[in-house]
Amino acid sequence: MPKFVEAEMVVIGGGPAGMAVALSAWEQGMRKVFLLERNPHLGGILNQCIHPGFGLHVFGEELTGPEYAERYIEALARTGVEVFTNTTVLGVERDRTVKAVNRHGVFVFRPQAVVFAMGCRERTRGMIRLPGTRPAGIFTAGCAQYLVNVEGYLPGRQAVILGSGDIGLIMARRLTLEGVRVEAVVEIRPTLSGLLRNYVQCLQDFRIPLLLSHTVLEILGKERVEGVLVGEVDENGKPKGPVRHIPCDTLLLSVGLIPESELLKRAGIPLCPSSGGPFVDEDFACDVPGFFACGNVVAVFDLVDHVTKSAERIGRRVKEGRKETQPCLTLTPGKGVATLVPQRIREGKEGSLYVRPKESLKGAKLSFVQDGKEFYTLRIPICRPGEMIHLEISHIPWPEERKEVQVILEGERHVDSL
Ligand SMILES: Cc1cc2nc3c(=O)[nH]c(=O)nc-3n(C[C@H](O)[C@H](O)[C@H](O)COP(=O)(O)OP(=O)(O)OC[C@H]3O[C@@H](n4cnc5c(N)ncnc54)[C@H](O)[C@@H]3O)c2cc1C
Repeated sequence: MPKFVEAEMVVIGGGPAGMAVALSAWEQGMRKVFLLERNPHLGGILNQCIHPGFGLHVFGEELTGPEYAERYIEALARTGVEVFTNTTVLGVERDRTVKAVNRHGVFVFRPQAVVFAMGCRERTRGMIRLPGTRPAGIFTAGCAQYLVNVEGYLPGRQAVILGSGDIGLIMARRLTLEGVRVEAVVEIRPTLSGLLRNYVQCLQDFRIPLLLSHTVLEILGKERVEGVLVGEVDENGKPKGPVRHIPCDTLLLSVGLIPESELLKRAGIPLCPSSGGPFVDEDFACDVPGFFACGNVVAVFDLVDHVTKSAERIGRRVKEGRKETQPCLTLTPGKGVATLVPQRIREGKEGSLYVRPKESLKGAKLSFVQDGKEFYTLRIPICRPGEMIHLEISHIPWPEERKEVQVILEGERHVDSL
């Protein structure tokens, strides 16, 4: 028999987003808050990120992932938030019924607010249709990071990394420090995908080559990876020029992250096609009343500090129990914008807006347009896909008309001389 549990708020996922929501709900005076995490420990992806670089905005100091997580774990321990670890949420219904399972049985909650904070997952070889054989030795970068930093295993001795996302860059340095020879980081686009600081600290400092506008054309090897064929590509990703054979026994893939949105789909929460996560307003409320989402399940954020800040808004909104009015504006990504969060503006007075550029631009102009009329612009000297543009919502003079607003980013194409 399932156990029925009375709850005000149920938070699904105990990473930095989930922990920050649960904490802020408690601080706002809610007393029946449940945090459900499928792993044995809280902390989410931070537990495997043993490098520094976390918390500069929130704490004003540079912490490692586990240190950042620990601050929230300790703060939660001083509250009455009910933390259920080793507990997997199996399903969420549109009437806010949450079904979870652990070794004590099945639990059913029907809280006033359900918060999705399940993070994201990595794109795999199948998703990018990489040609060649199917030998052992192909890992996603995050999986390799878990093996090295948590389990203490080395994935191989000689590696090539496909994709210049942050996890790939960080793993290039990590593997080098463990004695693995990293032959190259290969990036199909003409620009870096991750943060510039990670390029400098993880590749340049260790003299690891970055091959921009290149891709892996074929994986070689029967039982184990024996090498890869790498070649240059044109702006449409089509191979051109000579092909290079790079011997290696390991190929890491750092080719993008996608929000973990299965539970949302099943609950019928509308999803945004460009981010892959739910549509949210400035308080991270979804389109269906009573549902909220924060962190990487909404969109892949560049910094954990932004994940935490996104989460903290939810506690306040739920406590205030503000009437669920319709959002007054819908934001859509126009030319030059890959994703933006939030996509709904309810009051337009507080909170942040995050915009991820499609490509690197210099002398860029970010414009907000309604009915063909530009009502706000912001000049940005340089922007890159690896770094989100961050704006205060209150600085934007939102129009009265309840109509769609397009967010457009234009400028001169820029290629970093890396
Ligand atoms: C390799 C790597 C390096 C990074 N480096 C930096 C850096 O240097 N600086 C920085 O600021 N940020 C960095 N980040 C980003 C930062 O770690 C993330 O932004 C942050 O962890 C996202 O938080 P989250 O809570 O949304 O998701 P996560 O940390 O992924 O947490 C989600 C949690 O939900 C749980 N969950 C999922 N589904 C269920 C379910 N059905 N039931 C119960 N629980 C569930 C998962 O087990 C997980 O614990 C890095 C990220 C990665 C992957």
